Amino acid sequence: MARKPLIAGNWKMNLNHLEAIALVQKIAFSLPEKYYAKVDVTVLPPFTDIRSVQTLVDGDKLLLTYGAQDLSPHDSGAYTGDVSGPMLAKLGCTHVVVGHSERRQYHEETDEVVNKKTRAALKAGLTPIVCVGENLDVREAGGHIEHTTSQLIAALKGLKAEQAGDVVVAYEPVWAIGTGRVATPADAEEVCAALRSALAEKYGDLAERVRVLYGGSVKSGNVAELVKCDNIDGALVGGASLDGEEFTKLCALA
Ligand code: PEP
Repeated sequence: MARKPLIAGNWKMNLNHLEAIALVQKIAFSLPEKYYAKVDVTVLPPFTDIRSVQTLVDGDKLLLTYGAQDLSPHDSGAYTGDVSGPMLAKLGCTHVVVGHSERRQYHEETDEVVNKKTRAALKAGLTPIVCVGENLDVREAGGHIEHTTSQLIAALKGLKAEQAGDVVVAYEPVWAIGTGRVATPADAEEVCAALRSALAEKYGDLAERVRVLYGGSVKSGNVAELVKCDNIDGALVGGASLDGEEFTKLCALA
């Protein structure tokens, strides 16, 4: 099945709302409308930028979409500091990252929390970008396939097959994030293919519909060889998504 590639720019905790507007304008100016027939592009700014991005996207009828980097597992209530799926959906978000390794590491998010957030995203009509990935110790011990597939199955626990088909998966080896050390296309493809097989085992043909992204030091110089792989349907891009020129070059090569 032909899957439309997705390039998602994870801005992490960078850019205020004015800088966000400037970056989105630059992306919009550099990518012609016809580009979006071939590739989907989404940006994932900090919460504080989303309303500004929405105003620009709606006002100029831009074809790029936007989302968030995290959400609460709850819809509303006494959860100080949290932002819910319905709030993000109301702001026009289409995607939300769940289970990023930085959330797992700095906020102690377990597979169980990632599962709750995945369900909350789907319930709110958002597409969760579910991140999985091994650290260097696991990779060197040869446990990367088992580690990543079990993270994925745990994240999707209790979902109906139809819902699982709506998820985007991102394979992000922790040792490649922000380090400049990118996985080889063969290494990335091995894991992305294994993730799709694990989905097929559980959900059958729907696995063919799921977009599996690679993330970890993706740049304009390496994106083409990664997305050429059969089971890699795009990229989750951190550092390189903050520079409009580099990001649009990367998108054009995807
Ligand atoms: C990320 O944080 O999702 C990521 C892939 O970062 P980078 O591209 O900077 O490695």
